[in-house]
Amino acid sequence: MRCLKRYVARDTFTLLSLLGVDVAVRKSAGLWCGDDFDDLATYIREHQAGGYPVQHVVEISCRHCHGSAFRVTVDDEEGCALILCEGCRAETPIADSADHVEDAALEECGCPCGGEAFSVGVGYAMNADNEVRWVSLGLRCLADGRLGVYTDWKIDYAPTATVLPVAAHPGPSISSGPPQGRRDRRAGPGRAVRRAADP
Ligand SMILES: [Zn+2]
Ligand SMILES: [Zn+2]
Repeated sequence: MRCLKRYVARDTFTLLSLLGVDVAVRKSAGLWCGDDFDDLATYIREHQAGGYPVQHVVEISCRHCHGSAFRVTVDDEEGCALILCEGCRAETPIADSADHVEDAALEECGCPCGGEAFSVGVGYAMNADNEVRWVSLGLRCLADGRLGVYTDWKIDYAPTATVLPVAAHPGPSISSGPPQGRRDRRAGPGRAVRRAADP
């Protein structure tokens, strides 16, 4: 069985300060907190993962029980995230993560407060052709409301209709086969990733 280690969000406060961002969310002990999904969405938009404006933020709810509390595992290197519903234990890959999960070394996300249950928002930055360029995964800790973007990754193939959920992209074909192409990971700074031990 794979050993899951705790993955803690990077220091988002510093990023927001550098951007001179005036956000609706509040700062608590040097970290950003929010009360609801709107605050999380604001945070994801202001965070601008990859440096690209985020056009869509989609609130994730379980497609089986419609719950909105999840445990989350990510591989920040591979660009892969899975969420596990607290209510019914259904597992859902985020964006195109299903295509990469076999190669992923997933780590469980944990808030600095120790909380491991989150509400989840996914941010989508689009390019001029209205294709997804960047995906970011924002989490709000259900214990203390702390906000963070826990991972993000670039999408450099097209079309990307399969990446976007219906809510953000009302086009006709979001359930076709896996997209062709490859993705690159950005070797960004400040990624305090701790790798899971080899199985
Ligand atoms: Zn569920
Ligand atoms: Zn917390």
